[in-house]
Amino acid sequence: MSVNGSFDVLVIGSGASGLAAAVSAERAGARVALATKASIQSCNSAKAQGGIQAAFGEDDSPDQHAQDVWKSSHETANMKLVEVLTTEAPSAIHWLEELGVTFTKENGGYRLARCGGASAKRLLQVGDRTGHAITKALRDAAESGGVTLFPKSPLAELSQTEHGWRARAGEHVIDAATVILAAGGRCYAVAEERGELSTNHPGATGEVTKIALDAGAEARDLDALQYHPNGGAWPETMQGYSIPETTRAYGAVLLNADEEEFTDSLGPRDVVSQAIVDEVANGKGVETPDGRPAVYLDTTRISQHDAELSLPYMLRRYRAGGIDPLREKIFTYPVLHYQNGGLVIDADAETTLEGVYACGEIAGGTHGRNRMMGNSLLECVVFGRRAGRAAAEKARA
Ligand SMILES: Cc1cc2nc3c(=O)[nH]c(=O)nc-3n(C[C@H](O)[C@H](O)[C@H](O)COP(=O)(O)OP(=O)(O)OC[C@H]3O[C@@H](n4cnc5c(N)ncnc54)[C@H](O)[C@@H]3O)c2cc1C
Repeated sequence: MSVNGSFDVLVIGSGASGLAAAVSAERAGARVALATKASIQSCNSAKAQGGIQAAFGEDDSPDQHAQDVWKSSHETANMKLVEVLTTEAPSAIHWLEELGVTFTKENGGYRLARCGGASAKRLLQVGDRTGHAITKALRDAAESGGVTLFPKSPLAELSQTEHGWRARAGEHVIDAATVILAAGGRCYAVAEERGELSTNHPGATGEVTKIALDAGAEARDLDALQYHPNGGAWPETMQGYSIPETTRAYGAVLLNADEEEFTDSLGPRDVVSQAIVDEVANGKGVETPDGRPAVYLDTTRISQHDAELSLPYMLRRYRAGGIDPLREKIFTYPVLHYQNGGLVIDADAETTLEGVYACGEIAGGTHGRNRMMGNSLLECVVFGRRAGRAAAEKARA
């Protein structure tokens, strides 16, 4: 097999983290290639709806944001990474704006929502298509910046060479001084194995983590998988859909069969998911028309104004399925959503293998064993940028 190209930096994966890394490396002067498994558009990032956290509120600060991450992680996060995440959050938002993302505004400032586990309103949104807007802007920047794209080129092998790394990706063999792994998590594959529903796209299968481990990289908390508290349970077309957490931020509450609130609807994700599972196990849940376990999410408490500004896509999807969430409660049950752990990285997103970086869901430590919503897109941008810059610099050295 012939070598199809030699680059300074090779990025694996075209979600928000891979695209942010590619754009940053290219802007730092590197010759960059990006290889991804399916189409360039295919990823989890584009499915993200709810939003992205950054401490812009008057009663908020990066330190307060960091403390919320620490508590939600049950004191398992790597605080060095958390400090980077929360301190660089505002500049990451401004960078996205420069690339063309328009966040929803209100009263002259960002429209901020309070998400589960947060002590202040901190979630910025682009309606409820935040991930779609962010990946589109990053993709446009990568394409116009001259990043060489290899779609339909899944990474199958990674080996060290005298001058860096060699990757076999689909039909291509690509040499690069440094490599950035941004191939996301594995929840789609785990859900398939367990016969469960997942919010993830079919490319979330985790083989790149295994390739990195086989090459000698270290990982942490790989067993810690996150259930999104609010999987859609009915109608059938919404099963496996992640009902945005912003429904709860804007007033929806969880109710049992007796229409009683049984948990703080804005608690950390793992706590809320467990409360739902326990309520159903204690016989206080409800059943969907096709016999699935569920509780109610009372979305009728959301105002028309909030729904139209921050939940238009969710409303459209439910209404297309014959249910109006502003007029009736909807069925919900936790669904497999996110890989909390991953490859061990330092503050520049370098793994324990020299010249191999990891950013986004494939990396571990930033969220410890339980991620807060809105911090994954943020992690993609903050550590994607850091990985891109550092990998470009190392390639030059
Ligand atoms: C439905 C949904 C809603 C969400 N909502 C939010 C939200 O509101 N806020 C938030 O912060 N987070 C949210 N998340 C989580 C967040 O979107 C993801 O964790 C994050 O975007 C992951 O980005 P990533 O770049 O690491 O991975 P992905 O976006 O999953 O991208 C991984 C890329 O790697 C490619 N790939 C996989 N295997 C290979 C291989 N072998 N070779 C080459 N390429 C490969 C994939 O095809 C894909 O292009 C949501 C997730 C889902 C699924």
